[in-house]
Amino acid sequence: MDEFELISRYFSNCGAKRHDTGIGVGDDAAVLQVRDGCDLVITTDTMVAGTHFFPDADPRALGHKLVAVNVSDIAAMGAEPAWLSLAITLPSIDEAWLSAFAAGLHETAEYYNCQLVGGDTTRGPMSLTMVAKGIVPRGKAITRSGAKVGDYIYVTGTLGDAALGLKLCQGLHEVSKKHQTHILQRFHFPSARVALGQALRNIASSAMDLSDGLYSDIQHILKRSGVGASIDVSRLPLSQAVKDSCDNATAMQLALSGGEDYELLFTVPEAKRGSLDVLLSPYGIAITCIGRITGVAGKLELKQAEQPFNYVHSGFIHF
Ligand SMILES: [Mg+2]
Repeated sequence: MDEFELISRYFSNCGAKRHDTGIGVGDDAAVLQVRDGCDLVITTDTMVAGTHFFPDADPRALGHKLVAVNVSDIAAMGAEPAWLSLAITLPSIDEAWLSAFAAGLHETAEYYNCQLVGGDTTRGPMSLTMVAKGIVPRGKAITRSGAKVGDYIYVTGTLGDAALGLKLCQGLHEVSKKHQTHILQRFHFPSARVALGQALRNIASSAMDLSDGLYSDIQHILKRSGVGASIDVSRLPLSQAVKDSCDNATAMQLALSGGEDYELLFTVPEAKRGSLDVLLSPYGIAITCIGRITGVAGKLELKQAEQPFNYVHSGFIHF
C-alpha cells in the first residue's frame, strides 16, 4: 500500500461532513469557508511514542486522544472546533493499527463536529501531530490574559483522575474494581469541554484547559494577566474514585500536579458570577469555585481552611 492508498482508505472521509468545508482531503491544500465576522483559532499538538504514550497503547484510544486534546485547546478559547489536519509518522504500515487509529479519530472528530481536511504521512519513529482550527465571533476568543484582581477562579469536572489512570496503567497505584473503568476512561478517552467553553464567552475573563496539572497550568494565566492567585485546596473537586483510592496527600498531589484532565480553568468577575450557574446548568458538567485572583503578580498561594498549605510541586511528566 502506498501513501495515497493509505490516505484514501483511512483518512479521506474522516469526521463530520461540514458544509463550510470548500475542499477537504485530496487537493494540494484545503479550502475552508470561514464565516463572516469570525476569527480563525488554530492550535497544534504532537504526541510522540515513548514520550506522550506507551508504544503499545490502544490505537483507537490514541486516535481519540489526539483529537480530544486539540479540540480541548479550541474549547478553552471559547471557539467552535471545525477542521483538523494530521501529520503522521509511522515505522511501518500496520493495517490493523491504522484501521483502529482511524476509527478512534473518525468517531471523536464526528462527535465534536470536526472534519479532517488534510495532512501528511511519512515513515519513521511513531509521532502524531494534529492541527485543529476553530471559529469564534470576532474579538470574542477567551484568552489567558484577562484575569483581574478579585475575579473568582473555577474549574470544570474533577481533577486528578487521568493521573490516577496513568498510575494504574503503570502498576504504581491500586484502584478498586468498581472505579477502574471510570479512571481508565478518563485517562484514555478524555473529553473536551466544547459546549461549555463557548458558553463562557461572555462570562469568563480568562480561560485555559488543564493539560499539565493545575499548579503549573495556572501560572500561565498569572503570568499573562499580571496577577496572583489564592486557592483553597480543600475545595478542589475530586471524583469518588480518587477519594476512595488515595490518602489526602496523594489526592492533593494528583489534583494539583496530575496532568491530562483536559478540564477548563477559568476566571469570572464578581458581576458575572450570578449568571454563571444559570447559564451553565444545562451543560451537566459540575463547575467549582476554588479560589480568587489576587494582586501579588505571579504568586500562587495555596491554603487549606485558612491555613497555608505546604506543597512541594513535582511537575507532571508526560508518560
Ligand atoms: Mg491548552
